[in-house]
Amino acid sequence: VVRAEGVCKSYGTLEVLKGIDLEVGQGEVLAVIGPSGSGKSTFLRCVNHLERIDAGRLYVHDRLIGYEEREGKVYELPDHAVARQRRGIGMVFQRFNLFPHMTALENVMAAPIMVKKEPKAAVRERAHDLLARVGLADKTNAHPAQLSGGQQQRVAIARALAMRPDLMLFDEPTSALDPELVGEVLDVMRALVEDGMTMIIVTHEMGFAREVCDTLVFMDGGVVVESGLPSALLGAPQHERTKAFLSKVL
Ligand code: ATP
Ligand code: MG
Repeated sequence: VVRAEGVCKSYGTLEVLKGIDLEVGQGEVLAVIGPSGSGKSTFLRCVNHLERIDAGRLYVHDRLIGYEEREGKVYELPDHAVARQRRGIGMVFQRFNLFPHMTALENVMAAPIMVKKEPKAAVRERAHDLLARVGLADKTNAHPAQLSGGQQQRVAIARALAMRPDLMLFDEPTSALDPELVGEVLDVMRALVEDGMTMIIVTHEMGFAREVCDTLVFMDGGVVVESGLPSALLGAPQHERTKAFLSKVL
């Protein structure tokens, strides 16, 4: 579903991604760990072209994201074409970013109605289903300020799912939450994994990563230092940098 080949990204003179290679197959879950500033969020933002890459190739469903290739040359896609590509990619951030003036239900309904111009009645029905699926059937009319952090994050997940994505990107979805609220969000993510959703998850929740991911990637300094089965990477890390990082977080 996702294939990164030599992806590079700089901000000015700061090289943040220095040639990232990785692949995520259909229904696979990739978890990314690594120290602060290693480029994890930047990489996720490149996957849905919130950031443009400087070099390398990034494919989603075997198509370049943000670009098209014609006769061996690469051209940037117009905004509307990028927007269409992004519809299939759901993203959940550390901060919930819900629309504060809308209810939970309206938040979930917003994108399919505004972006996809889907009929309201069908979207409303789907939004009710999605909120039930994340355990918030009784909160449809609550505004974000009336919800706990964990509930807001579950609304954010339902909102992303409302666009029927076939790829979900999570950037530390639980790290802004009080510890007792982390579990309810991880439960929702676990259910998505069981449904076969393809996911890339940046997380500090090592136990969760070990449990759900097919491949664990350790990033440091803008490169993939090491990747593999979670049991192997956590149980017998090969690189000094991986060992040093794990000794701090495990
Ligand atoms: P964290 O675990 O703290 O979230 P991260 O691995 O997600 O870290 P990134 O957010 O990808 O790291 O940032 C990588 C580097 O790029 C950092 O040095 C950061 O300061 C820099 N950076 C990120 N976004 C920008 C930007 N828009 N402009 C300039 N520098 C940026
Ligand atoms: Mg980050």
